[in-house]
Amino acid sequence: MAVTRTSLTGWGRTNPSAAELVELFRSELPAALKEVDDRGALVRGLGRSYGDAAQNGGGLVIRLMGSATDALLDREAGTVTVSAGASLDELLRYIVPRGFFVPVTPGTRFVTIGGAIASDIHGKNHHFDGSFGKHVLRMSLQLADGSVAEIGPDRDPELFWATIGGMGLTGIVLDATIRLLRVETSRMAVDTHRLPDLDTLMDTMADGDDDAHRYSVAWIDLAAKGSQLGRSVLTRGDHARFDQLPAKHQSDPLAYGPDQLVSVPPIIPRPGLLNHVTVAAFNELWFRKAPKRKIGGIESISSFFHPLDMVGQWARFYGKPGLVQYQLVVPFGQEDAMRRIVERVSASGAASFLAVLKRFGAGNEAPLSFPQPGWTLALDMPGGAPGLGKLLHGLDDMVLEAGGRNYFAKDAHTVPETIRRGYPRLAEWQAVRRRVDPHGVWQSDLGRRLHLAGD
Ligand SMILES: Cc1cc2nc3c(=O)[nH]c(=O)nc-3n(C[C@H](O)[C@H](O)[C@H](O)COP(=O)(O)OP(=O)(O)OC[C@H]3O[C@@H](n4cnc5c(N)ncnc54)[C@H](O)[C@@H]3O)c2cc1C
Repeated sequence: MAVTRTSLTGWGRTNPSAAELVELFRSELPAALKEVDDRGALVRGLGRSYGDAAQNGGGLVIRLMGSATDALLDREAGTVTVSAGASLDELLRYIVPRGFFVPVTPGTRFVTIGGAIASDIHGKNHHFDGSFGKHVLRMSLQLADGSVAEIGPDRDPELFWATIGGMGLTGIVLDATIRLLRVETSRMAVDTHRLPDLDTLMDTMADGDDDAHRYSVAWIDLAAKGSQLGRSVLTRGDHARFDQLPAKHQSDPLAYGPDQLVSVPPIIPRPGLLNHVTVAAFNELWFRKAPKRKIGGIESISSFFHPLDMVGQWARFYGKPGLVQYQLVVPFGQEDAMRRIVERVSASGAASFLAVLKRFGAGNEAPLSFPQPGWTLALDMPGGAPGLGKLLHGLDDMVLEAGGRNYFAKDAHTVPETIRRGYPRLAEWQAVRRRVDPHGVWQSDLGRRLHLAGD
């Protein structure tokens, strides 16, 4: 096999490590696994996790070949069977014109099916539809001993749920069958509200109206302080029905062709100019630009779900130190804790113009799945900012105290104790991993940093 020694990072471009990178078809995996040494092997998707989840310094990193061109769409059942190496981007191009949508999409469509399962990703519809794993009906999993297991909620459920959210450390998902959502159009009907502060935002999101919308998320101005703390723009939407489309879109209601701009829009501060002053100015502009209240605006799938994908390699404008993303969840009833967290970030001046708040609904059976009922906040900060480590560890303490946890797919800083306390079912997951991988073939930088395997 043709391996290349390559320095890899996550999307945040922090913590690089060098590994032997190889692209393999599924049929080549058993032979490759025989060659793995004690630094182990890991599968990598499109590297959209922010930290070190898709890295295995000193070991083997496998990019699983696969595309959506051989996906099998069962129109009657509303399901698709697709290679785990295929991206949501490819899958959407195939299914949207045929009247289907993925059950869950993150804020980028450049993730693989395998990565979506391994992180048990959530979208703006978690309060409505749960996370990705809930919609996986079956999958085949390449095990460390070279065999392939066929698993599902009724077939070795322990291994199935340990693989959902299992960060690639139980095996390589080869393909999966996923329940899709039927859509009449490729457009979204969107309501937008501008809200003056955090309390008004949380009250508005909790008033029951959120539950009437499939999708809901709020952008928060984390540079605002005092009475404006947490001022925000709340967007809530649903897939538009045919009769909601303007006449110009009715001739081809399922047309889908997401665009990508070639450069960073001038509204966004340039590398080196990213500081609390420019971020505050950007946020001011962003807040004012949003309509105070707009009901039923029609938007494309890409502008509603994947606006950042419009800007190719946008993480690069954070420059050499990269960016750190932090996502936390605290249970309902811990609104005061969320307010204190927002105050702490705002007071720290840690520049962040990509801060979002949303509500999570019920979690699922996966021991390492991140979502739990409550409030989730995700924010970006420039890596290397003075005092950043102290701030993040301080936030960890506040989150744990409130009964919450943080998200592996975004993490680049936390420590094993925080994970042990935030994920009380970790030992259960470790027992399944020991059963299917007793010699520790699957390894990652994240797994070693957080002692996930427990050895
Ligand atoms: C702009 C942006 C927005 C985002 N928004 C969200 C969001 O709204 N919600 C959310 O939940 N996440 C979000 N994310 C995070 C992203 O969805 C996850 O990190 C996802 O796992 C990335 O998929 P990937 O294919 O790039 O996987 P990678 O980042 O390459 O890998 C992630 C993990 O998946 C494992 N993995 C990959 N392929 C397989 C496989 N075939 N079998 C088993 N394990 C595998 C890897 O080993 C690794 O542990 C966002 C990321 C970005 C950059």
